[in-house]
Formats: sequence, structure tokens, C-alpha cells
Amino acid sequence: MKTFVIANQKGGVGKTTTVMNLGASLARRKKKVLVIDLDPQANLSSGLGFTQQFDKQSWNSTDQAPYKSIYDVLVDNEKLSSVFVTTSTPNLFLVPSHLSLAGAEIEMVNIISRESLLKKAIKEFKEEFDYVIIDCPPSLGLLTINALCAAEKLIIPIQCEYFALEGLGQLIETTKLVKGINPDLTIGGVILTMFDSRTKLSESVVRDVKEFFKDVAFSSIVPRNVRLSEAPSYGKTIFQYDDKSTGALAYSNLAKEFINRFKV
Ligand code: ADP
Ligand code: MG
Repeated sequence: MKTFVIANQKGGVGKTTTVMNLGASLARRKKKVLVIDLDPQANLSSGLGFTQQFDKQSWNSTDQAPYKSIYDVLVDNEKLSSVFVTTSTPNLFLVPSHLSLAGAEIEMVNIISRESLLKKAIKEFKEEFDYVIIDCPPSLGLLTINALCAAEKLIIPIQCEYFALEGLGQLIETTKLVKGINPDLTIGGVILTMFDSRTKLSESVVRDVKEFFKDVAFSSIVPRNVRLSEAPSYGKTIFQYDDKSTGALAYSNLAKEFINRFKV
């Protein structure tokens, strides 16, 4: 079992899309995959079809969730095994998030070893899964720190846009700090996302990233593909929504590269 964290404190770079579709592609390749939604926005949970069932009148969004989520694991010591759910993709399991997680960073402050709560929870599993992949919120707060402490490999998605490399110094500094608690953590790879072959800009970001990260950049690059952005609103992975799209092909190639690189 190998644990990965997909992090970049910038929002909208493709973290959630990558966790969802890389996870699904690995599962389709007969790997047993657990994806953990660590973002209070819960985009990964809803994208995988996990809908929040609630009575609109009595349910206040920041109140306790009507289902168990990662919040209960971090704040109430619940076991991951009692929280994870199956998805419509065989072999792909989800630990859902909920908006209540937004308050967890504050609630966690008084808990001893608050940085390693997720690591402790994942220790429950030995070989039950081949891959555990954690989706992070767009910040370097306590939730992302927990993910960095729990993982062996940091995977950084980088959007092929202006200022693509901006803020990466901060992420790498945070990773160095976390190494004090989790010496195993290394950068496992960089994924270029939303590549647009029509722009010179995309090409130049690819060049910059390859120069900066040398061989850790994956050669499978994810193109800008509208099908990838449509799929989550139907609660579907790209393979369920449009198996023939360029987005599906890219995430399928990425999964292949992943398996070759990490040998799981
Ligand atoms: P993050 O989790 O880093 O905030 P998301 O994965 O949610 O980023 O992506 C941000 C937005 O861009 C979402 O609306 C998503 O559907 C869309 N998106 C992500 N990857 C692609 C892509 N390769 N092509 C087109 N749209 C994408
Ligand atoms: Mg996200």
C-alpha cells in the first residue's frame, strides 16, 4: 500500500479532477484504491456521486453532517473503516468530506499531535488497498499538513497557465518542514494539467516545469478538455461519462505511468 497526497495551495489547478480520474483509472486497472476527500468543499465526494442527503429545512450547512465523514475521523477519533463508502466504480472507495470540516482546523488545534491525526487513522490499513490518494483543500493549513504527514509521495498538479510556478516555493518549504515529522515524504511527481496545444503559453509552462522539476514531471500531460469539467456534475468519472475523450485517454496514460513508476 502506498499513500499519495495531491497538493498545491492554488485552487483550480486540477487536484480534485486528478484524484477522481487517476483513482478511477487505477481502479479500472484492478488496483484497489481509496481516495480521501480532505477539502471542506467536498468536490471529490460530490464528483464521485456521493450526494448529501438532507432535509433542506432542518439542515444548516455547517451543522453536523447527516453521514459520517473525514471530519469524524479527525475530530472524533472515528475509524476510517467505518467511514469509507463504495462508489459506482468497482475497486474505488471514498472517504467523504463535509462542510463541517471547515471548522475542523480550529477544533484540531487543541488535539495532541494534531498534524498526524490522518497518518494515525490510515495506519489502520496495512494491505487492504494498493493506493491511498488524498485530495487537499487549496491552502497550506492544518488539513494539508495532515495529508503531507500521512503520505509517502507528494504529487503536484500544475496548471499550464500564467504564474504556474508561483507559490510552489512555499509548498516545497512546507514539505521540508513536514519532513521533521514524516521523513518518508518525497516529491513523487508533477502533473501538468489543462494543457492547451493552441497556446504558446502552455508550451512554455511545460518547458519551465520540466526544467524546474527535471525528471519528476510525468510525461502524460492532461489537456484542457470540457468533458473533464462536465463529468462531476453528473457524479461520474471521465470513464463513465466519456470514455473516448482526450481527458479519459490522458488519465488512463497517467495511471499506466503511475503503476510503472511506483511499482504498486
Ligand atoms: P482544484 O481541486 O485544484 O481546485 P479542480 O480539479 O476542481 O481543481 O478543477 C478546477 C476546475 O477546472 C473544475 O471546474 C474542473 O472541472 C475543471 N477542470 C479540471 N481539469 C480540467 C481539464 N483538464 N480540462 C478542463 N477543465 C478542467
Ligand atoms: Mg479541489
